[in-house]
Amino acid sequence: MTDAIFFDLWNTLLYCPTKDMLDKIIERVNLVDTSYTDLIFRMRETLFIKNDMSFGQFIEGVCSERNIMRSKNVVFEAEKIWKSRLDTAGYFPETVEVLKALGKNHKLGLISNTDSSGAEYARKIGLTDYFDAIIMSSEVGLSKPDPLIYEKALFELGAKAGECLMIGDNPQADVYAAQKAGLDAVLIDRVGIHTGLECRKIKDLRGIIEVVV
Ligand SMILES: [Mg+2]
Repeated sequence: MTDAIFFDLWNTLLYCPTKDMLDKIIERVNLVDTSYTDLIFRMRETLFIKNDMSFGQFIEGVCSERNIMRSKNVVFEAEKIWKSRLDTAGYFPETVEVLKALGKNHKLGLISNTDSSGAEYARKIGLTDYFDAIIMSSEVGLSKPDPLIYEKALFELGAKAGECLMIGDNPQADVYAAQKAGLDAVLIDRVGIHTGLECRKIKDLRGIIEVVV
């Protein structure tokens, strides 16, 4: 019996061109030997868990770890590219109807790896209104896949791990980390990129309705 359902935010409930923008930033800042995945890992340890850190400060930190100097102008432009991701972000077509339907019989929780600008955006467009517990990494100082963020979310929602389901688009942070914390988990794979993985998958959020009945 699924009592509560937790959701990842970015590219699960809301579309956001995170990878495209980070690839653009890597090119603009000329971060040789740095991949999108490298930046995401670093963000989980810095930008995503610090409410007062700007993207500019994050990228300056990345440069200094690599002993490279970049002008204020380049850092400013990188920050501008990062902010522009929210201009094209938005709901997937089925997000609201599925949250409304599931919210009738389940407690709903949000667990997001996000910087403060992303958290602010989700609140501004009203997405957070559908949830009983909202865990933004930048506000709690923890990020997925740290099991403590799942513990915190379970506590906030007053739910037991064994009666919860987690849905997200990242196999490590959303599926394996949730399973480690004792939750059931499902991967949302909208474009079919995770072909080799041995976990339960859905193609869009409507697929959850079949999982929880
Ligand atoms: Mg995501």
